[in-house]
Amino acid sequence: MKRVLVIGGGLAGLSSAVYLSQNKFQVTLLEASPKAGGRVYSFVDETTNTEIDNGQHILMGCYADTLNFLRLIDAYKYLKIQKNLEVNYLSHKGNSFKLKAAQFPFPFNLLYALFSFKRLNVREKFLLIKLFTKINFIDSDKLSGLSVIEWLKKEKQSDNSIKIFWEIISIGALNTSTEKASAKIFCDILKEIFWKDNTSSSIILPTLPLTKVFSEPSIELIKKKGGEVRLSEKVIGVEIEDVKINKVITDKNIYEDFDFVISAVPYFALEKFIDKKFFDKQPEFHYSSILNIHLWLKQNFLSEDFYAFIDSELHWFFNKKTHWNIVISNADKFMQMNNEEIFNLVFTELKKFIAISDDDILLYKIIKEKRATFIPDDFTLKHRPSTETKVKNLFIAGDWVDTKLPATIESAVRSGRIAAEKIVFNN
Ligand SMILES: Cc1cc2nc3c(=O)[nH]c(=O)nc-3n(C[C@H](O)[C@H](O)[C@H](O)COP(=O)(O)OP(=O)(O)OC[C@H]3O[C@@H](n4cnc5c(N)ncnc54)[C@H](O)[C@@H]3O)c2cc1C
Repeated sequence: MKRVLVIGGGLAGLSSAVYLSQNKFQVTLLEASPKAGGRVYSFVDETTNTEIDNGQHILMGCYADTLNFLRLIDAYKYLKIQKNLEVNYLSHKGNSFKLKAAQFPFPFNLLYALFSFKRLNVREKFLLIKLFTKINFIDSDKLSGLSVIEWLKKEKQSDNSIKIFWEIISIGALNTSTEKASAKIFCDILKEIFWKDNTSSSIILPTLPLTKVFSEPSIELIKKKGGEVRLSEKVIGVEIEDVKINKVITDKNIYEDFDFVISAVPYFALEKFIDKKFFDKQPEFHYSSILNIHLWLKQNFLSEDFYAFIDSELHWFFNKKTHWNIVISNADKFMQMNNEEIFNLVFTELKKFIAISDDDILLYKIIKEKRATFIPDDFTLKHRPSTETKVKNLFIAGDWVDTKLPATIESAVRSGRIAAEKIVFNN
């Protein structure tokens, strides 16, 4: 049985370890922190005794690799999958309205949704549908050099349709401003979401805390197949000789008995133990933050699973039943603020949308993820390295590797699957 060391227990590492285990490779996974899952995890909040996510994660129907991975680890059953796209929007003074795809065959279901979308005038709807229908035929390489906002303006989208429709998708998926995000990757993901099939635009929510959906079932499968998961063990160096890794050094052990290594750590961690001269491209990543605010209330009076905020610094609202979870993407400006400042700002904003008073709030918890995702600008996208490296037995995975996707669960899981396949199909 060939042996593979997987470095990093985020979703990229777990995905590669699961695929390798399924294909009869002996896997040892090394994870620096005491928990697996990387940026996707949950923990028990001691004050309220609730298991909460570090931040709400949503999946989409077009996440083909993630859905396959969840089937493999028998966790597909922990998903709530929309039949058709449906988003509830909240606007000021408690008004809400829907974007809802119809039961028609694709793509008429989505065209109907756009056509009946309130808050856009007839001209705005016409221009939006015009761009929407041509997206599938655009050669996105020709958009290189344009930002999302430049492209949308060029396509004559009004400020209102940018704010009400395009920005919500762009900031949600790319976690940066429309000024920074590349039009090329935005166009590519719009094709994935809206132009693949009937269900690709459906929103999918985990029904259990994240660790129970992703990490626990993955670890169980790896162990069942004879592999090992070593938590709290950090890789601090490797020894490369004749363009082959022959030693992996951690803060606890030295490993020499392996055939292949997959590194699935973020780029900023990888460059500490492997020289970038071994990659086919020399990347430079800048990061963007996500802020999650968990609120416990005396009474939960909202019924929908989630809402999108319109025209607000708050982006998404998730109703976790035990509490509310508000998400702010592209949240760098909040990183320097203290929790009280953040809460006051968020609460003042929330009151514009939902009729609540100070008395309704029992507790709050704020989670800042500073380096949540890399910023997908044009330069960065052109410099993402691919899975294979110049070191013969080393492959790289992670949401930042060149999967053509933004930094998402799907990118991480896909990169892990591709790295595993490079080994499986050549041995
Ligand atoms: C708050 C938040 C919300 C998000 N929301 C969404 C969403 O709704 N939908 C979506 O698709 N994506 C979302 N994302 C993005 C998604 O979480 C990431 O793209 C994905 O989890 C990245 O996985 P990864 O395995 O590439 O990296 P990571 O999750 O960062 O995993 C890397 C792992 O490597 C370990 N490691 C680092 N250095 C070493 C070392 N030297 N030795 C051993 N181990 C090491 C780390 O501890 C970590 O566990 C969100 C991210 C955040 C932070």
